[in-house]
Amino acid sequence: MKTLSGNSFTATAAAFVLATGGLEVPRLLLASNDRRPAGIGNESDFVGRCFMEHVNIGAGPAVFTRDRSELEPYMPTPRTVDMDGEQRDLSLQAVLLLAPELMQKRELRSCEVTFEFPFPPDDARLRSVYPSAAHGLDLLRAEGTEPHMVPTTRLLCEQEPNPASRVTLTGKKDALGMPELQLDWRITHDDRMSILRTVRFVAKQVGQQGLGRLQIDIGGFRNADPGRDDDIDFPVNTGSHHLGTARMSASPQQGVVDTDCKVHSVANLYIGGSAVFPTSGANTPTLTIVALALRLAEHLAAVVPGTAVAPAG
Ligand SMILES: Cc1cc2nc3c(=O)[nH]c(=O)nc-3n(C[C@H](O)[C@H](O)[C@H](O)COP(=O)(O)OP(=O)(O)OC[C@H]3O[C@@H](n4cnc5c(N)ncnc54)[C@H](O)[C@@H]3O)c2cc1C
Repeated sequence: MKTLSGNSFTATAAAFVLATGGLEVPRLLLASNDRRPAGIGNESDFVGRCFMEHVNIGAGPAVFTRDRSELEPYMPTPRTVDMDGEQRDLSLQAVLLLAPELMQKRELRSCEVTFEFPFPPDDARLRSVYPSAAHGLDLLRAEGTEPHMVPTTRLLCEQEPNPASRVTLTGKKDALGMPELQLDWRITHDDRMSILRTVRFVAKQVGQQGLGRLQIDIGGFRNADPGRDDDIDFPVNTGSHHLGTARMSASPQQGVVDTDCKVHSVANLYIGGSAVFPTSGANTPTLTIVALALRLAEHLAAVVPGTAVAPAG
């Protein structure tokens, strides 16, 4: 091992835990190729594959006809935030999760929906910040319904594990002589269809529950009802969650670590963190990461002589 200040050292231990994050775990495993040319743990060619993120998209403005006070029970985190020097009200950060039975019935991936940053309907900035809100405002007023506020809709979505979405090494080396990594992040057509079907479902519910209207607008993409073969290449952002590049599997043919987070093909190497997720869910990976770390600590205490888990508190 080396550090940037020029130190180098070796470490010996009864067991090792590699917990360097969803990008650096595959980088270190792939770069450790002096004895195993494909890299450590890569017998089934899964190291670095199935890279997943939480696809993060603005899905368009919602024009709400309900007053803020009626929605307060659904707003878990009332607070004000600084947005580019301006104090904006985040208090409409209502988080919705679809029921598991519904997702299963409609074959939707997991998704977290938030309504956030509401403007009053007559705020002068509204039509420039959420230009596509105008249609909903005009429509509701033509019906004789008065809008109360206009938040924007945001989705954080699961994507399917796809072996073609992957981290690999380049020929370039960093200052420590380690190969640099490159990421080929892929989002499948089915991932995008699931996002659109979810947005459509939420939009329909906003109308049916009498909350108002949701104008779907994903970076200018407004076709909420595409055919299966249509081009649905709308822009997306990331959720800063790097998942799946050393996936857990029951069989060594289908992943990198076993259910104890141990690398299938190495007796004393374990992996911690979101690299081991076989599927990604839609949000908050850290709770699962911590749960897995606690379970791994208990396992190591049981199988590695001389280790123990400190009592809580
Ligand atoms: C801005 C932001 C907001 C987020 N918000 C949330 C949230 O609200 N809820 C949530 O659940 N998750 C959130 N996340 C995601 C969450 O932080 C990550 O999913 C989680 O930290 C991943 O844990 P990990 O242990 O896999 O990796 P990391 O937390 O990335 O830990 C890896 C560690 O390894 C170190 N490391 C890497 N390479 C080496 C090396 N070669 N040698 C030595 N050390 C190395 C790194 O410095 C780092 O300390 C957020 C992430 C970001 C960036």
